Amino acid sequence: MGNDMNVLFNLPARENELFRVEIDKAIQDVLDSGYYLLGNHVKAFEQEFAGFCEAANCVSVGNGTDALEIALRSLGVMAGDEVITVANAGGYATTACNIIGAVPVYVDVNRADLLLDIDQVVGAVSPITKCVVATHLYGQAVDVVRLREKLDQAAYSHVKILEDCAQAHGASIGDRPVGSMGDVATFSFYPTKNLGALGDGGAIVTNCAEIAHSCLQLRQYGWQSKYDSAVPFGRNSRLDELQAAILRVKLKHLPELNAKRRSAIEFLYQACKPYVDVVTLPSASSAGHLFVVRHRQRGKIRAELSLHGVASDIHYPLLDMDQGSMQEQPYRVMSMDHSVTASEEIFSLPCYAGIDTAELQYIGRVFDLYISKIV
Ligand SMILES: *Cc1c(COP(=O)(O)O)cnc(C)c1O
Repeated sequence: MGNDMNVLFNLPARENELFRVEIDKAIQDVLDSGYYLLGNHVKAFEQEFAGFCEAANCVSVGNGTDALEIALRSLGVMAGDEVITVANAGGYATTACNIIGAVPVYVDVNRADLLLDIDQVVGAVSPITKCVVATHLYGQAVDVVRLREKLDQAAYSHVKILEDCAQAHGASIGDRPVGSMGDVATFSFYPTKNLGALGDGGAIVTNCAEIAHSCLQLRQYGWQSKYDSAVPFGRNSRLDELQAAILRVKLKHLPELNAKRRSAIEFLYQACKPYVDVVTLPSASSAGHLFVVRHRQRGKIRAELSLHGVASDIHYPLLDMDQGSMQEQPYRVMSMDHSVTASEEIFSLPCYAGIDTAELQYIGRVFDLYISKIV
């Protein structure tokens, strides 16, 4: 077997091509309407997406990081407040904390799924803790219902929960979709996410009318009505009509897109499990976002994969507190054992809705023929 294939890590154009006719029509629609911001498509998308999440309200914004910042502010998080989160999830919550001046407090993750270790959260709460950011990493859902129970039992009912759902549109815990369990939830529609726009986009979802109202003001200059700014820290972060119209098309197809990702995970799991530890086990409750594995000889395996045309990536190579940007910023760390080892061993293989069977089979053959020889 020569180097006869090149498997890219991601190619969102493939899934958008599937819906080209519908997407073209959506774009024409916006052009014809002459309405570009906060129009009917945004309103309709917000309603439809709230429905999808089984939540009462959706406020769309410019991207997933703005969504985190605005959602944290809507919970009353201010400079100096503590926000409990994990250090292995790409640093987005940390970025939002930095903008606000809030202090991230990092707890460890479970050894198996690399999600927030719920049992460590209560021990990390201090008198200035405002919120826990629970990140539904790699498409897998954190059991937010159990997290809420734990906090309540410890008399921390005032500590809010923000679900970061940027990697998990459509994941669930039991019959509860992510985004419906915490006080507030945030989403990104970056092109490679499970629900991806043709550019940037984000949303905040909540069952609480006051939080939604606060987010509406914060996303547009703090306005309570036109030119009348009622609250501080408002800014401009809007989803545009074009992206909303496109997202409406793709939201209709999200269940089938997630099913494709989950079946890619099922295939890769069978193909790779003899050789590496699989982090993202196949599961009907996962949205199916990334396919993540781990091995002590990560560097060697990735080099061999690359030699045979199979792309891979690391999500994520550096923990938040090890980023250069955090060296002068305040933070607190609880135990980090599993996060540290995982960051040295994990890597991700190509897994997206548009990946085809031939590519998946090729990855399987590369593991059987070459990776088998070096592990
Ligand atoms: C992508 C992502 C974000 C940020 O989304 P942007 O739209 O790129 O700002 C936040 N959290 C997680 C977990 C993500 O994967």
